[in-house]
Amino acid sequence: MDGIKDKVVVITGASSGLGEATARRLAQGGAKLVLGARRMERLQALAKELGLDDQAVVKTDVTHSDQVEALIERAIKLHGRIDVLLNNAGVMPHSPLARLKVEEWEQMIDVNIKGVLYGIAAAMPHMTSQKSGQIINVSSVAGHKVRPGSVVYSATKHAVRIISEGLRQEVKPYNIRSTIISPGAVATELPNSISEKDVSDAVHDFYEQYAIPADSFARAVEFAMSQPEDVDINEILFRPTSQE
Ligand code: NDP
Repeated sequence: MDGIKDKVVVITGASSGLGEATARRLAQGGAKLVLGARRMERLQALAKELGLDDQAVVKTDVTHSDQVEALIERAIKLHGRIDVLLNNAGVMPHSPLARLKVEEWEQMIDVNIKGVLYGIAAAMPHMTSQKSGQIINVSSVAGHKVRPGSVVYSATKHAVRIISEGLRQEVKPYNIRSTIISPGAVATELPNSISEKDVSDAVHDFYEQYAIPADSFARAVEFAMSQPEDVDINEILFRPTSQE
């Protein structure tokens, strides 16, 4: 497919959900994938299914900048360039602030914000010298509004939008595109990161009622990637039709 075939695409959080669905769709379109996550057995099974080289999967914890660098460097080693970074890894352990789940707040900040920044830091030197590239960051409907019980998650996803928009303004001279994708409820393992039982039950119920398949996100990535190089899709915000 135009704008997908032969592009070198690095995906963080590719072991499940949105990252995995995107890897599947882009592999069909002929992209050259390099996939990162912590669960190697899941990545290896996906690589096998998609016919990727063993080297195309890299154990990556995005809270460690050296591991994110190693992921990007793998793409450079295998393919000599990086065309797209999909900064997708994320966690969503919702809970009301009064429960004081401070470690989970820190985890969200580390994965959802710092992980994205580490990806940008690792990819940017290559993209600036190539004078081309696209960084796609994953925000959320929660990056547009806040609700009781999701304050820290929402703050991290607001941060992702601001970082992406600021990045867009700064990297224009290097012909680098910056895209934000903000999904509503999509059926993935994301609610499993909630540790508080009452919150977990409510969010699982919500997802069972509203969530749409993960390929909806993959199609949004495909659309943003397949635009001509002089078109930067700045943001895609989408929800299940039935979600308020
Ligand atoms: P999943 O839980 O299915 O996938 C999350 C992915 O992130 C997994 O591959 C996981 O891999 C990875 N991950 C988590 N922590 C780390 C870490 N420290 N280092 C590296 N990878 C990590 O959820 P989704 O696919 O839904 O989530 C993907 C993104 O989409 C997230 O940023 C999420 O906030 C966002 N999003 C999702 C929505 C939805 O409704 N599903 C809605 C809006 C946004 P592993 O555990 O193997 O490391």
